[in-house]
Amino acid sequence: MQDLHESCGIFGIYAPGTDVSRVTFFALYALQHRGQESAGIATAEGNKIYIHTDMGLVSHVFNEDELARLKGNIAIGHNRYSTTGSSVACNAQPVLVGTTDTRIALGHNGNITNSMTLRTELEEKGFVFNSSTDSEVIANLMLSAPEKDMEGKIKYAMHRLQGAYSLVLMSNDKLYGVRDPMGVRPLALGTFDTGWVLASETCALDHIGSQFIREVEPGEIVTIDGSGIRSTRIESSKKALCIFEYIYFARPDSLLNGKLIYSTRERMGAILSKEYPVDADVVMGIPDSATAAGIGYARESGIPYHEGLLKNRYVGRTFIEPDQRLRELGVRLKFNPMTEKISGKRLIVVDDSIVRGTTTPRVINMLRKAGAREVHMRICAPPIRYPCFFGVDMATRWELIAAQKSVSEIKNAIGADTLGYISMDGLIEAVGQPRDTFCAACFTGDYPTPVQLEMDKLQLETLASNPLRSFSEIET
Ligand code: SF4
Repeated sequence: MQDLHESCGIFGIYAPGTDVSRVTFFALYALQHRGQESAGIATAEGNKIYIHTDMGLVSHVFNEDELARLKGNIAIGHNRYSTTGSSVACNAQPVLVGTTDTRIALGHNGNITNSMTLRTELEEKGFVFNSSTDSEVIANLMLSAPEKDMEGKIKYAMHRLQGAYSLVLMSNDKLYGVRDPMGVRPLALGTFDTGWVLASETCALDHIGSQFIREVEPGEIVTIDGSGIRSTRIESSKKALCIFEYIYFARPDSLLNGKLIYSTRERMGAILSKEYPVDADVVMGIPDSATAAGIGYARESGIPYHEGLLKNRYVGRTFIEPDQRLRELGVRLKFNPMTEKISGKRLIVVDDSIVRGTTTPRVINMLRKAGAREVHMRICAPPIRYPCFFGVDMATRWELIAAQKSVSEIKNAIGADTLGYISMDGLIEAVGQPRDTFCAACFTGDYPTPVQLEMDKLQLETLASNPLRSFSEIET
C-alpha cells in the first residue's frame, strides 16, 4: 500500500552527560516510517539552542559533523511527511520560536483543524511566521499566552487548539511531552540511563536501549528537568486514538495501549478469515504492513501462508524520479513477485487498506502476470469513505474510491475475483479496546471534533484554486 502517509515521528530526550543528538538520530532512524520528507534535531546547551533541519531521510540529513555541532543535555527530533504546509525546507521541524525571555523548539505530530483562524489572530497581534506549518502556529500560540510559566503557556494553547497533536518541545533547561485531550496520536515515555525520553512509538525506545514506562495520557503535559519528572493535565472528555495506527502507521514491533501491533494485525487477519472465507491454495500478505494479518488469516483458515511478493526495503522515499520506462513498471520498483510461488495458484491476498484504489490494481495485475489463477483481496481496514483531518495525508473525498463506488464496483475496478473488507465490529474486536476510545472517522464520517467549518473552508479554497472542478466533485 503506497498512497497513505502518516504526518510525523517525534522524539525527545533529557539526559545530561549523554550524546543526546546521536541518540536522537538513532531514534528518528527507527521512526523513519512515519515521515520521509524532512528531518531535524534541536539541542539545548546552557542558553544556546542549536538546530539542524533539511529535506530528506534521516541518514541523508545528518552526518558526523552536524551531530557534533548539536551539543547539549536536551534534544528533540522530528521526521516529517507534510500534511499542512508544502514540502519545502522551511517547513521542516523542529520549529524554533522566541521572544526576549522565552525560546522554545517544538516538534509536532498531527494536524490542527483551526490553525488558519489561530494564525490570522496571531498575525494580527504581530507574530511573524517563517513557515506554513501549523506547528509554528502552536509554538507562537504558546508564546502569546499571558501566563508566565511554560506549563501555563502550554495549557493556554491546549485550550485554544482543535485537532490532533502530540508534541515534544524544549526550552533551554526543560523537555516537555504533550498529548492532545483526545490522544489521537501516540506518545510513549521511557527512561534512558539517568534521563528520560519521549517517542511517537515504543519501537524507537527499544532501538536506543530505553525502558518503556508508559504512554503519555490524553490531555497530559509531562515536564522533565534536573529535578525529575512531573505531570499535569487538562480535562480529556473524549478519547479518540487513531485506529489506523493499529492497521498501518505504527511499526508491528511497537506497543499501543499495552498491545503489540503485530498481534493485533494477526487478529485482524483471523477475523477477516471468519468474515470472508474462500477456497484457495495460498494466503499472502502485502509486505510489510499486512504480513502479520496474512499470517493470522492463514492460521485461522488452515490455508498455507507463503510470501509471494518481495519488497525492496531500500526503496523508501527517493527524490530521484524514475524515468518513463521505470515509471511504467510502477509498483515493480517496490515489489517483485516470486513467480514459482504464485503461478497456477488461487491466492488470498491480505492488504492493510485501499485508499484511492490506484496501487491495488497494479499489484493484482502483477500477480496475474506471474500466473495467479485467482486473486481474492482481503482488507484490514473497512472502506475509507471520508478524509482525515487529523494529520494523515489520505486524499480528498472525491479521490477515495470507497466514497465513489460500492464494494462490488471496487472489486471490478481493481480486478480482483472477490473482495472483503473487515467489518467495523471485527476491527474493534481485533484492537480489543472500547469502540468509543477511538477515532474511526475515515470509515464512519463521525469526527471526534467539529471539522465542518474548516472542511467547508478547505473546499471553497480548493474550488477557488481549481475552478474546473464542479461543486458535485467536492461535495462531502
Ligand atoms: S480519520 Fe482515520 S486516519 Fe484520521 S485520525 Fe481518524 S482514524 Fe486516523
